[in-house]
Formats: sequence, structure tokens, C-alpha cells
Amino acid sequence: MPVPMDLPRAMHKTFVRDKEACASFRKTCPQSLRRLSRLRRISVPAGLLLLLVAGQSVSGQVKMPRLDFHERTLANGLRIVSAENRTSPTVAIQVWYHVGSKDDPAGRSGFAHLFEHMMFKSTRNMKSEMMDRLTEDIGGFDNAFTNDDTTVYYEVVPSNYLETLLWAEADRLSGLNVDAQNFKSERDVVKEEYRQTVLAPPYGRLDYFLQQKSFTAHPYKRPTIGSIEDLNAAALADVQAFHASFYRPDNATLVVVGDFDQQQLDTWIDKYLQPIAKPGSPLPRVTVKEPQRKKEVRFTENGPNVPLPAVGITYLTPPITDADAESLRVAQTILSAGESSRLYHALVYEQQIAQSASATANLLEDVGLFHLNAIAASGRKPEDVEASLLAEVKKMQDAPVSQAELDKAINQIVTSQLLERETNDGKALALGTATVLLGDPNRVNTDLVRLQAVSTADVQRVMKKYFNSENRLVLYYLPEPAKSKPEGR
Ligand SMILES: [Zn+2]
Repeated sequence: MPVPMDLPRAMHKTFVRDKEACASFRKTCPQSLRRLSRLRRISVPAGLLLLLVAGQSVSGQVKMPRLDFHERTLANGLRIVSAENRTSPTVAIQVWYHVGSKDDPAGRSGFAHLFEHMMFKSTRNMKSEMMDRLTEDIGGFDNAFTNDDTTVYYEVVPSNYLETLLWAEADRLSGLNVDAQNFKSERDVVKEEYRQTVLAPPYGRLDYFLQQKSFTAHPYKRPTIGSIEDLNAAALADVQAFHASFYRPDNATLVVVGDFDQQQLDTWIDKYLQPIAKPGSPLPRVTVKEPQRKKEVRFTENGPNVPLPAVGITYLTPPITDADAESLRVAQTILSAGESSRLYHALVYEQQIAQSASATANLLEDVGLFHLNAIAASGRKPEDVEASLLAEVKKMQDAPVSQAELDKAINQIVTSQLLERETNDGKALALGTATVLLGDPNRVNTDLVRLQAVSTADVQRVMKKYFNSENRLVLYYLPEPAKSKPEGR
């Protein structure tokens, strides 16, 4: 009999990979957006949850319950971070490969994402889609996502299936069939995904163009989804070389959180993962540095079926490990979180100049990108939308935000992190992020203090430091000009 899961079954549906065309936004969107999309599935009211799970420090600030974890590195380089949590009879397993779309070979964009699909195909011991059978058929779930820096595979299963999943993850790490049949079938799926997520939606090209144009040298300029031309140009040998370069134990981190015994876990790891050999070749790493921007750059792109003009503005920001990362997160929240946020209130509600307006701090491993996006309201010009966006930036540079606004923004971020930590899957995601992207798993226990230390002066300082005209890229995304009618008609 299946053991009850820590989330109702209905909530799992959004996790399930669509076998025909996986939900690309989850695969390619910034981690911050992915987290938001996960949070929507949790129905406990945020205020209640804060009361339930959080302690209050003497200064009145919320404290995150400590996450005790165990670290281990095998001789073959595989890193393991595990945390026991017996509150539900389930276990979350994640394998983080430190390869993302920034590692796609030149002229072969989309490879990291293509591999995410390939990893669900047949292996030495498993039929294609067997991972889904090993999880969904016992009331669990599995999926994966790819972003600029990492490719992550995850499962949540009743805890008595942990050994099976460790065997299966070892099997697809060491014995994936990178053959012509699997490659061609998944390439077709990815091409269809590109059509559905980039070409078909009215604003699908906007973020694609913004990413391409926002970097001049760094491979972050290649969107994760890739391009049809590059995918068509790929040969089986390219795909095999990519797999050999990055899918290896010394480029992987296994995260296990939930109902298990550490000693038993170590025994299974010794049995299934320890024997995988470490390749002798060095791991390729991106060393290209994106140069600082020196002056404002502007572009106009036209697209088919664009109902209303859109404006995208980007600023280069420091990497995710930088001391300013938390202040940028807070700035994003003040600008963009909810209907009381500055952008929504000014552009959508008061001025009615835009039908939507948002900010995203896309904090990445090598260099970050802060986006401001807005879609014009009917009859409004992109020039006016741009002016309103920049006016909101200027307000935050000219005067500090109020303490109440700051406190609210920090509470919003803290609440989302506490909600995430309520599940084994969320704890594993936090541990994986801290280990692979922040370089220290203990950041799961220290980052809240950093966030709560952000002051109104910090927010004003980062707005002045990064949001200047030299560091600005502006893109207008407009409907295609009306075609002139043939003469005489
Ligand atoms: Zn996909």
C-alpha cells in the first residue's frame, strides 16, 4: 500500500513532466520564479505558517528552524549532502549536475536542456521513462529542470523506495544510452517545446531577445531552450561528447532529505554510487567574463501576434554569491511583489499606462541580470512605459524606501523561504542551491540573518550603484508593422 505523501496527490500534478513537451518555463526560468511557482501549490496561510514554524528572536525577527545536514565526498568526486527529517514517511532525492546552458558548446545551444530530456530515456538497465514508473506508480513524483548554471533531477517517494531510486540515479549517471534513437526523439520534443514556448505565445520572444542581447561575451547570452538551427546542426557525436564532459560523479551533488537512516544511506551510496569511475579528463569550465557596460544600448524588435507594445530593461548585477545579492532581492520584491508593489501601483493602477509590470533579480553564478518588464496598456506608447519604469527606479535612488516597506518586503521573502522549507523537496532544493551555487551548504542556516540585515540604506545604495544609464539595455518589443495593401485594391 502506498505510504501517504507529504503533499496531497493533486498538488503533484504540476510537477509531472509532460512527456510530449515538458513545461519549458519551469526548466528555463530563473530559480526565483521556479520557487514562486512551487509556493502556489501550498495552501497553508502564510501568517499561520509563520506562527507554526518560526521562532521569534528577542529582536522580534523571525528565525529559520536550523537544518542539520551531513556532508560526504566520495573518492570519485561525488558530493553528498543529506538531512534526516522523520516528520513524514517520504524522502526527497535530488541530483544536481553542475552544467547549465552556459556550458552549451558554441553553435550547439540547447544541449544542457536536451540532456535533461535524454536522462529520462533508456539506460543500461532501465527502459525509457522508467524513472517515471519508479516514482509516479508508487504515489511519488519526479521531474527535472535546467537553467543557466545547473541541471537538476528530483524525485520524492515513500521512504522505503530510497534504495531503488539511488540505484536508478546511479544507473542513469553511469549507463545512459546516448544513442541515435534517443537523441533524435528527444531533439524533436525539444524543438516542439521551443515552438510552443518561444514562438507561439505573443510575448514568448521578449525574454529570449532580452537574454540574447543583454550579454555580449558571456555564454549566458544563449537562452537555455537553444535554437532550432543549433539543434538541427547537432550530430550524435556532439551529444556524446557533451555527455562525457559533464555527466560524471565529480560534477554532481546528491541531496537526500527525509525519512532515512544516515548509516543505511551511506551503505547504499557505497554500493551504488561509489563504484562509478571518475574520468581522467579535466572538467571544462566557463572562464569568459562579461565586460562592464559603458553606455546605454537600445534595440527594437518586432514580433508576430504581439497585441500591445512591451518594454524590457536590463542591468548587469553581480553574481549570486556577492554581498549585494540580498539587497537586490529586496529591491525586486519592493518593485514587483504583488499589487501593492511600486511598479504595479504606479504603472498599472495609478497611471494605467501598463497592463502588467514586473521586476526580476536573476541572480546567476557568473554575473546577474536585473530585468524590468512591462506591457503597455491599450493606446499607450512604449516611450511612456519606459519613462514610467525609469521614474520608479529614480524614486528608489533619490530617497530611501520606508522602514515599513522594507520590513514588508523582507517578510514576504522570509515567508516564501519558510514555506519552501516545509517539505523535504523544498529543503533539498535549498540545500542543493546552497551547496552548488553558493559554495556552502550551511548557507541554508545563515542566509536569513543576511537578508534581515538589509537596511533601507542598502536598498538605496544598490539602486544607485547598478541602475544607472551606462549599465542599461532597453528593448522595445513591438507588433510587426502593418503590411501595405497591394495597389489597386
Ligand atoms: Zn524541456
